Amino acid sequence: MPAPLKVLFVASECAPFAKTGGLADVAGALPKDLRALGIDVRVVMPLYAGMPWNELEVLDGFMTVPMWWGGARARVRVGQLPGSEVPLYCLEYNRYFDRPYLYGPPAEGYADNLERFTFLSRGSLELCKALGFFPDVIHCNDWQTALVPVYVNTTEWMQPLHAAATIYSIHNLAYQGVFDGGGMFITGLGREHYNPNELEHFGAMNLTKGALHHSTLLGTVSPTYAREIQTGTYGCGLDGVMSQRSGDTIGILNGIDTDEWNPATDRHLPARFDATDLSGKAVCKAALQKEAGFPQRPDVPVFGIVGRLTPQKGFDVLAHALDRILSWDVQIILLGTGDTDAENFFAWADAHRGDRFRAWLRFDNGRAHRIEAGADFFLMPSRFEPCGLNQMYSLRYGTLPVVRATGGLVDTVKNYDETTGGGTGFMFNDLSPDALANTIGWAVSTWYDRQDHIDAMRRRGMVEDFSWARAARDYEAMYHRAYQRRRGHAFG
Ligand code: ADP
Repeated sequence: MPAPLKVLFVASECAPFAKTGGLADVAGALPKDLRALGIDVRVVMPLYAGMPWNELEVLDGFMTVPMWWGGARARVRVGQLPGSEVPLYCLEYNRYFDRPYLYGPPAEGYADNLERFTFLSRGSLELCKALGFFPDVIHCNDWQTALVPVYVNTTEWMQPLHAAATIYSIHNLAYQGVFDGGGMFITGLGREHYNPNELEHFGAMNLTKGALHHSTLLGTVSPTYAREIQTGTYGCGLDGVMSQRSGDTIGILNGIDTDEWNPATDRHLPARFDATDLSGKAVCKAALQKEAGFPQRPDVPVFGIVGRLTPQKGFDVLAHALDRILSWDVQIILLGTGDTDAENFFAWADAHRGDRFRAWLRFDNGRAHRIEAGADFFLMPSRFEPCGLNQMYSLRYGTLPVVRATGGLVDTVKNYDETTGGGTGFMFNDLSPDALANTIGWAVSTWYDRQDHIDAMRRRGMVEDFSWARAARDYEAMYHRAYQRRRGHAFG
């Protein structure tokens, strides 16, 4: 049997062990499907406080990670991604990672984050050497791992790891790992790498920029986001570099956890349903209306909203359109936490328009499921959206997404066509209160005037394939392309 492709997957978070966002879901799910394709993939991450330390096996001995101040002696603990045989290596270095937060208290970063994630990046490569595992491809994710492709090309020059192709996946370009240029010594890289073609960007050290230059191929979590970040509007200052490498950038839509989010088996719901029988959805709607304290009317359209209340999600625009939207016969249920201003506004709206607007300002997974199942429409007026998961959950739950045409939303939702009844949701382009209200109005009028179209759209969305298995096949092709580019010949 030919040797399998060897892939090291480096991430700063991985579900269910440590999670702040979608990156953790990718790291916890994609490797399992890659393994099912026969790839020898292994995941490496830091060992944080709060992880199940005692369930992980402690490997013999210590690993020495070169740091600016000397060698950091780190232990390695190994486990597996739940329900799989994918090895998960956790780098144990308590001075950096045994802390209450992954990156720092809310809205702050730890002062030594550059040092912490230099350790992760350098430590991942030292781990390979310690294990004798020399990957064909190293898959890095977001700025915390951005130094890996730089090290592969520099400190590993003429060493076995230099042969590895590197892939840098962008989950959210808004976070780039920007530090004072004076901190270059912390990376262990010579000052000569502090230039506009590597790590220097407008007078600061930008780790993402280093990865964009040094990686064999670049990835994003949706095809549309891959194109958008080559423009000034979405590129967060790195659009120039992204355009230079447009031919090497591949957008692959994230999958969703189709076991956790399955209306036919969902344990959070009062009734279950599928595309062939939607009667359970009506039960979920009535229960949701009751939970929200609304009249249990099947005829009124219910709009659901779940998400972080941050500028990325565009809820400030919703705030400006809310009066107009609430002048119609609709019910809106919002579940979210985030910026204080946004929370205060929606609490106020709840207090004043409680007859048709409910705001639950907390994190509640069960409620997120019940909203996805019980609502008729799901609102995502995102300013930018690298991929987005909620709209995929909505489609699977027969809840029509009303979205702004950006990023992964464009790649997952097909706009309604009134003449044919085609599509799976409603879309608008301008991020303005008028455009948002008009599109919600369009959804509402379709609800009242063309129920047959609503039904057909629901069923269409429910049977679409958003599985990780699909994404994994695309990543496998990307790994092979990266290998070919790095080595000059095909794998195998
Ligand atoms: P992002 O990763 O940008 O926050 P996504 O749509 O990709 O947005 O994923 C958000 C995830 O977090 C979804 O699984 C969503 O259900 C969940 N979520 C966000 N806010 C809440 C909340 N207040 N309660 C429960 N789940 C939430």
